[in-house]
Amino acid sequence: MPNPTATLADLPPYLFAELDKKIAAARAKGVDIISLGVGDPDLPTPQPIVDEMAKAIQDQATHQYPAYQGSVSFRKAAVDWMQERFNVAVDPNDETMALIGAKEGIAHLILAYIQPGDVVLCPSPAYPVYRNYTIIMGGTPVTVPMKAADNFLPDLNAINADDAKKAKILFLNYPNNPTGAIVTDEFMQEAVDFCRKYDIVLCHDNAYSEMTFDGYKAPSFLQVPGAKDVCIEMFSFSKMFNMTGWRLGFAVGNAKAIKALGSIKNNTDSGAFTAIQTAGELGLAQYKELTKDLNRIYGARRTLFVDGLKQLGWPIEAGPATFYLWAPVPTGMTSEDFATLLLEKCGIVVPPGNGYGPEGEGFFRVALTQPEARLTEALQRIKDNGITFDMASNGAACATA
Ligand SMILES: *Cc1c(COP(=O)(O)O)cnc(C)c1O
Repeated sequence: MPNPTATLADLPPYLFAELDKKIAAARAKGVDIISLGVGDPDLPTPQPIVDEMAKAIQDQATHQYPAYQGSVSFRKAAVDWMQERFNVAVDPNDETMALIGAKEGIAHLILAYIQPGDVVLCPSPAYPVYRNYTIIMGGTPVTVPMKAADNFLPDLNAINADDAKKAKILFLNYPNNPTGAIVTDEFMQEAVDFCRKYDIVLCHDNAYSEMTFDGYKAPSFLQVPGAKDVCIEMFSFSKMFNMTGWRLGFAVGNAKAIKALGSIKNNTDSGAFTAIQTAGELGLAQYKELTKDLNRIYGARRTLFVDGLKQLGWPIEAGPATFYLWAPVPTGMTSEDFATLLLEKCGIVVPPGNGYGPEGEGFFRVALTQPEARLTEALQRIKDNGITFDMASNGAACATA
């Protein structure tokens, strides 16, 4: 057997593949694992969407190759939703593309734009695909640090001008995975100006646009005047409607970027299953009611877990978006130390922050993808094991890490 490409060997191990191994080992020892690891909703897809799919699949026309750019009715639904939700106008033919999930769109955009020598500006900490797919294509990922002190909005002025000139894509993601951070109007404008100045595709990953609380409404980068000159925005049904397994999303924005993405998809995946698109259309048409129900549940879990961590000394406040909490590890520990401690002492799985890039060191992420009873159980286990934010100063459990 020949070896796969050298760049594949360069890839860091996928974070959750590593976690899965540790979970399997603990389960084999009989540990009752509470996983707050992967950002995969534990709740089912809303029933009206499931019913719509069941109907659509009976239509034989859905059994044939889909239109690779998405069905006419799906693209219209996406366009109408962009208009109603963000007051953003996009053209259904040139500026809209159905995706087999946002991950597919992100990876294929990199495939469309990146050759060896090209730079991709990748925030850190971040969703790992931006960086990893850049490496797969032989491109150079350049880290754009996101710091807690700056509310996780990167300093674009700090990007080296040579890197900016070689850059083809800047990835951004707000509401943010893993930090839960949100964007400001000023920063969106700054990012658009920066990408116009250096002729860079601004890819905004808006996977969490609808997972928000306390009345917060997340924006679209396409609301910024002139954004369409540089910006392509990815939306996902995965987190919006608990549809991770269905694989559906869409891209909207700059026509040249959409066309490039389409050329790759046309030659690679032939588009999303039409019946799934039909179900997605219903989701978009009823998004207000459907997301309200889901966000009520995630919002209550967020309050419960943040309060629990606070009682154990954690300096943490409930943010307005995503089902993630991003919390500092106790003083004197690394992210890996703390994740290992939680797994070994408490049977709790959390991804260590450094799995999202070196700038994630010193943090851990909690995905609120367990029912309240299990979250309460997790907090109790943490408490029972004497784990607190300032446990180092108490000389407690940290020696075992
Ligand atoms: C979950 C996630 C995605 C992937 O979405 P799919 O539509 O399931 O591919 C993309 N970006 C971020 C930031 C995510 O957290």
